[in-house]
Amino acid sequence: MKEECGVFGIFNHPEASRLATLGLHALQHRGQEAAGIASWGSHGFCRRVGLGLVSSVFDRRKLSALSGHLAIGHVRYATAGRGGVRNAQPLVAQSFWGKMALAHNGNLTNSGELKRRLQRRGVRFTSSSDTEVILRALSLERGDLSGALRRVLAAVRGAYSLVVATPQALMAVRDPKGFRPLCLGSYGESYLVASETCAFDLIGAQYLRDVAPGEILRLDSGGLSSSYLEEAVRRSFCVFELVYFAKPSSRAGEASVYQVRRQMGRELAREAPVRADRVIPVPDSAVVHAEGFAEESGIPFAMALIRSHYVGRTFIEPRQSIRDFGAKLKYAVVREAVCARRVVLVDDSIVRGTTCRKLVRLIYDAGAREVHLRIGSPPITHPCFYGIDTPTQKELVASRLSVEEIRKFLGVESLAFLSVEGMLRATGKTPEDFCTACFTGQYREDGERIRSQLDASRSAKLCAS
Ligand code: AMP
Repeated sequence: MKEECGVFGIFNHPEASRLATLGLHALQHRGQEAAGIASWGSHGFCRRVGLGLVSSVFDRRKLSALSGHLAIGHVRYATAGRGGVRNAQPLVAQSFWGKMALAHNGNLTNSGELKRRLQRRGVRFTSSSDTEVILRALSLERGDLSGALRRVLAAVRGAYSLVVATPQALMAVRDPKGFRPLCLGSYGESYLVASETCAFDLIGAQYLRDVAPGEILRLDSGGLSSSYLEEAVRRSFCVFELVYFAKPSSRAGEASVYQVRRQMGRELAREAPVRADRVIPVPDSAVVHAEGFAEESGIPFAMALIRSHYVGRTFIEPRQSIRDFGAKLKYAVVREAVCARRVVLVDDSIVRGTTCRKLVRLIYDAGAREVHLRIGSPPITHPCFYGIDTPTQKELVASRLSVEEIRKFLGVESLAFLSVEGMLRATGKTPEDFCTACFTGQYREDGERIRSQLDASRSAKLCAS
């Protein structure tokens, strides 16, 4: 189970759950499959979760039930409906500290092993989410909550940015490699944590700092205190957050997503220049890359692809004969911007290659003379085991085909990807501090575990094909 999610937590505010709802709205791009909030107050504990967007899950009735001064929330993205509402977070369990709720962004690489160990001790699971392993292990613990987290997480491998809440405290924890983002903010007398700073901006809260890799942050009536997990820190922030996943208005991984993305576009224009009349982004995720490309190359920028924001996920894929309607439903081409022109189409990444292939055809159909494709990240050749939902390795077009073969498959005049060095240079940070596994195959965990994950990924594909 892969989780590509957003988390939020707020302590010490009388409108905690309302602010959590706003925070989740801002984080909606991190997951649209399910949303949930758990809150604590003088009336006790309350949890509301549902499938779909934050705006459809939380109506006035649900929100009024969620009273209290402490709330945590979650937006979830998982592949095609697996587990449904049973896997919606925050997950809840009874614990030594009272009702405990937990929300997770990331993906654990040894959850199967840990789950079997707990099941042998008689622990029962109610979801298929890897997150439940942490919750169930915590609910067997006693004593100080930070110590309990330290003991439980010592056995956990992979990526986790967690918010955990009990009636007395809100905890925020980041794995020792810091794969996924997690930020700390303040709002008057209250503290907040969120996956990205865009959640603070919407509320009007102030960004204080990132939760550090390996840090356990405790927010309670005594204020804020911090301790660390025992495993040594090796910074491995997911560079794909900066390429695609995080919102351009956010800070993530202690960097401005907008500035890094624009710089990626600039680097790309330097590495792979082209003679063209217009730079066209694939909206929305490549708009900033394209802005950087246009600035650096001096080629005018044109919003020639218009994305519809009203295509629901429930749309039934039409039969082969009318399959291209899928792309046309989502993207419309501004004929006047491309007709008889040489265009540079800029996308942030290629995964299976299906989106670009369809878009290229639409742009040629609208009369473009030449379509050159520039990708604001290197070829994705390896699956992610740390929380970005990438398909199995064989489905990644760049794991099977060379750049020239991909160019032919996509039907473009020329194709170039940003280099790994160019991408890392664009971050303005120490290159060693990033996980680039999806582009390089260099995973940041011990080889044995990753080899078995890769084998599973390959055999899953073989079963499917
Ligand atoms: P594909 O058509 O499979 O090559 O997908 C590439 C497009 O999907 C790009 O335009 C990206 O913006 C977007 N994309 C990249 N990674 C993901 C992801 N993990 N989930 C959803 N969309 C993605």
